[in-house]
Amino acid sequence: TDKLHIVGGGMAGSEAAWQAANMGVSVVIHEMRPKVETFAHKTGKLGEMVCSNSFRSDDHEQNAVGLLHWEMKEAGGLVISTAYRHRLPAGGALAVDREPFSEEITAQLNAHPNIEVSYEEISELPQDGQWIMATGPLTSDGLGQAIARATGTESLAFFDAIAPIVYADTIDMSKAWMQSRYDKGETEEEQRAYLNCPMDKETYEAFIDALLAADKTEFHEGETAGYFDGCLPIEVMAERGRETLRHGPMKPVGLTNPHEPDVKPWAVVQLRRDNALGTLFNIVGFQTKMKYGAQKEVLRMIPGLENASFARLGGIHRNTFLNSPTLLDERMRLRTQPNIRFAGQITGVEGYVESAAMGLLAGRMAAAEILGQELPSVPQDSAHGALVHHITGGAEAKTFQPMNVNFGLFRPLEGVKGGRRGRRDRYKAYTDRAKEAWQGWLGTQTIATAAE
Ligand code: FAD
Repeated sequence: TDKLHIVGGGMAGSEAAWQAANMGVSVVIHEMRPKVETFAHKTGKLGEMVCSNSFRSDDHEQNAVGLLHWEMKEAGGLVISTAYRHRLPAGGALAVDREPFSEEITAQLNAHPNIEVSYEEISELPQDGQWIMATGPLTSDGLGQAIARATGTESLAFFDAIAPIVYADTIDMSKAWMQSRYDKGETEEEQRAYLNCPMDKETYEAFIDALLAADKTEFHEGETAGYFDGCLPIEVMAERGRETLRHGPMKPVGLTNPHEPDVKPWAVVQLRRDNALGTLFNIVGFQTKMKYGAQKEVLRMIPGLENASFARLGGIHRNTFLNSPTLLDERMRLRTQPNIRFAGQITGVEGYVESAAMGLLAGRMAAAEILGQELPSVPQDSAHGALVHHITGGAEAKTFQPMNVNFGLFRPLEGVKGGRRGRRDRYKAYTDRAKEAWQGWLGTQTIATAAE
């Protein structure tokens, strides 16, 4: 049988290798460190955590990332089980002692009879063989260029520009309304793509003051080149002049507020539907480097968003990622070159856990293909399934930006509308449904999920 080649031994590549190797496939991990460095990695170890040491919430009943932990554990995940072995006290969060964590990942992979690690940079997209590209947000320049040549430059981004994303059911519709600017859009669906929050002059002025005063994050060294093309943070726009936003993303033209048809808003914040389910909306043009705490405070000054919950907050980072909804099929293969899969942050998920989870799926999918085994589609009701479905199909391709796992990605529960049931009950119902679906899927596979 074919070998499986995995480029990148980070969160995704390490997990993909483990899963495929446990299915009996021979795996080669190609890792450029320590020969070639990135600005964030500090060691030559596999599975290095580059920044915080947190896998976030470990609550598998009430939190979508905790649910991913649970699913990965059920699937015999290397990353999650190693994280648990090196857990540090952190309340409900899964904090990890990073050095022994990456040391053990490296040792386990090296000791696996089906895994070989080759320390080298891969700078071309291979034409033959089975490959998983898991080179992460800091994919080396050479490979990044090779991918851009294969996919078209429009389809590979080197920075993200993440606008905050709001849960639709936490927007106050007695203040906001749905309308596309100048009522553009043929179908009702297109017209329901936008939601608007009006501001009077006083609110706008107070909002600008708060933006200017808010705490911001600085870029790391080596991170900034190229960022100023077309994705200015809102606070930078506000610094350029108090009216800039009112003439930019907050322009009040082409819209009529049905709650107050006679009053012309001074500014309008627009939100755009972010997924096919209509459960998530992103705030258009609101990419920002404001710190998370400050960001929530400032955004909740927007009329209609006073009680908003955020599926994710905004940010701008050096981040190499594909336009996965157009480039990848549901099995994470490059449509134009199906011997190549992508996994991890480069597919447009965000975070250690999400990246490892996408590695887990890609590893199993690639191995099943090599072994000629049937592998049913990943169930959309599981956390893994919700996430992979989002990046390969559910997300709006035109405005695609990296995504964390969250309950907004899950299909709504039948018979449970928005806030009708309490949130705790709803989340519990999502996680129960997910666990059953995930177990069912794992049960279809003849895989030794437990590590030797
Ligand atoms: P990585 O873990 O980065 O692994 C990719 C691997 O591929 C690396 O080992 C790299 O050396 C290797 N590689 C790259 N190019 C090549 C090549 N051409 N040939 C061979 N090998 C190659 N996420 C969080 O959850 N929490 C955080 O606090 C956090 N902070 C971050 C801070 C920074 C500065 C950055 C850049 C990212 C941060 N992230 C954070 C996101 C984090 O990188 C990802 O969540 C996670 O590490 C991605 O996993 P991955 O496997 O896709 O990529």
